[in-house]
Order: sequence, then C-alpha cells, then structure tokens
Amino acid sequence: MELARSGSVLGERASPKQVTCRVSSANEPVSRTVVLDIEGTEWSCDCTGRDAVCVHVAAAAIALRQARKAGASLPVAKIEAATVGYRFQRSSAGLVLDRVLVRGGREEPLQTTLSALTSGRIAGPPLMPTAADLEVDVALGSKRHGWFSREVLGPVFDKLDDAADVRLDSETIRLSRERAGVRGKVEDQADGFRLSIEQDPAIVEIFANGVARCGDTLKVVADPPLTGRELDDLRRGLSFGPDRIHELVSEVLPSLRKRIPVDVRTRKLPEVVRLRPRLQLQTEQEGDALSILPSIVYGEPVCARVAGDRLISVGRARCRCATRQRRSASLGSCSRGSPSPPASASCFAEMRRWPSPAGWAPSTPR
Ligand SMILES: [Zn+2]
Repeated sequence: MELARSGSVLGERASPKQVTCRVSSANEPVSRTVVLDIEGTEWSCDCTGRDAVCVHVAAAAIALRQARKAGASLPVAKIEAATVGYRFQRSSAGLVLDRVLVRGGREEPLQTTLSALTSGRIAGPPLMPTAADLEVDVALGSKRHGWFSREVLGPVFDKLDDAADVRLDSETIRLSRERAGVRGKVEDQADGFRLSIEQDPAIVEIFANGVARCGDTLKVVADPPLTGRELDDLRRGLSFGPDRIHELVSEVLPSLRKRIPVDVRTRKLPEVVRLRPRLQLQTEQEGDALSILPSIVYGEPVCARVAGDRLISVGRARCRCATRQRRSASLGSCSRGSPSPPASASCFAEMRRWPSPAGWAPSTPR
C-alpha cells in the first residue's frame, strides 16, 4: 500500500475503542481523518470516496498494524509533516486565537495563510492540513490571528467541532458547534408551576468576545431566539396555576422547546401524550324517549373531554391532544334532548357515517 509505505499516516489519538489517524497523499491538498474501531469491524473516513473501504482507511489500517507490531500505540509518520494547532489565550478583551504549525513535537506560529503554504506561494514545511483547517483559513480571512468577534468564531467552532489539537492557555480544550446561552426551567410553585429562564448552569466562564467555557469545552454564546417581551416575562418567571397547566404543557412548552433547551425540575408536570379524538355518545332513556349526549373525548379510558372551547382533563391524567378535531357541525340535531322519531332516524343515519370505534354500531330506532 503506497500511502502506508510512504509514511503518510500519522496517528492522532487512541482511546480504548478507537484510533484516529491523519492520512495524506501527494495528489490531495488535504489530509483525511480516518477513525478505526480497535476490533476492526467499523471504520470511517472524511473523504468523498464511494468505495466501502477507501485508500485512506486501508493505509491507516496497515500503518496501525505495523505500529502495533513494533510496540507503538499509534503510527508515526515517516515523513515529518506539520499539522495545524489552535491556541486560545485569555485576555482582557476576551479570547485571542493563534494558529501554530506542529512538527516533531515543536510548535511555530503560523505567520501566513495556510493556502499560501499549501499552494507553494510561500516556502514552508511539508503540511498535513485537514479540510477543516483550510476552511478555517478562509473563515479567518486576511486577519489570520488575534481577537475575533463571535460572528467569525461561530463558523470556526462549527468546522473545528471536536478537533484534536486545541488549547486554552496551556490546557487541552474542545471546541463545540453547540451554542451556549439560556435554558428554560419548569419548577413547582404552590399547586401549579413556574416557567423561567436562566444562564446555562454548565457555563463556568464567559469571555468578552462572546465565547463561554463549559467545563473542558468552548462554545460560542448565542442570543436566545426569543422576543424582547418573552425574555422579560421569562426572566421574571411565569406562573401557571391548576387551570392553566394544560396551556403550559400543550402550547407554551412545545413552542419554547423549539427554540431553547428546557429543563423540567419537577416530577409533577403531567406527561404529554398524543391521542386521537373520538366521539362518545351517552344515551339515556327518558320515559318513551331516548336522550343522547354527544361529546368529543380523548383516551381509553377517557382522560380528557372537549367542553366548549376548552379541553378538560378527566381523572388524574392530563393530555395534550394532537388535533382537536371537531365534528360539532353535525351534532346540532343530536344535542342532548329527546328527538322526535323522524329526527331520531335522521340522527342515527348521520351517526352511521361517522368514523366510530371498533364494535360501535348504533341501531336505528323504531
Ligand atoms: Zn478516505
């Protein structure tokens, strides 16, 4: 295998289950990242090759086997090519970023653009840049290093999500494409609930250029997609008493969860289930007449019932109904009462056309 023989495979990191290698070749401007499962049953490569096993995976597997035979945990590239490292430093204005070329355990600042080096316009050491390194090179533009706004850092973090060689001062740190910001929370309050927002509790440090440190991960801070009024209300906290729990569970929380993460810090919040509505007819004999009370209900047994414009929970369960279908248009002739025989016949004929639960079949009154 030419790639493995030419020493273009560099072991990047090893975990008990996986090995990550960087594979480069003379005819490709970027190196490829190959992840090999230790048991040899699974692998991945970030190239666009369509073969089940591309040349990069094959080269990495051969190089890893050779390294293990020689007693090493990771392959060492025989041609010493430089990789790109990212170095963040704390400053009074926020984080500043420098890129370095790492070669043989030594670092030197990257003084030019990567594209100038890879194209040969400027002389430099042999390089093993990843596709992400080249994309970051473009995203940083002509400024190359120093202080960047979060508008620039956002796309950089997206491309370097989980990149191997990133440090904050002297610590190894991870970059994430996830955004940091506020989280919603639902807590018990008297016999109802309180909904509010707070800064993500995972944030331990915030930098002036809009980056937050969450443990060993840096994330760009994003403005929550909430209106000014929503922000004010949620910062103060919104109360939902027993008569508004349905509104909280079926409307307010689903809408909020589409925009920010929400933590439920109570076990009392009713479970959300999706149920199809069905028609229930309650019949009662009143003398010689039959009284019929139609209603739209959810669940078997019934856990909610439509009353006017509201959904009323029945028993302990409370439900969110996916669709509050109404068939009230045809209920007019069948509302509670004792229809005359001709009206009853027309009413039952109408009911036969409604979708009904299995086993339900009204008999036509005589
Ligand atoms: Zn590949």
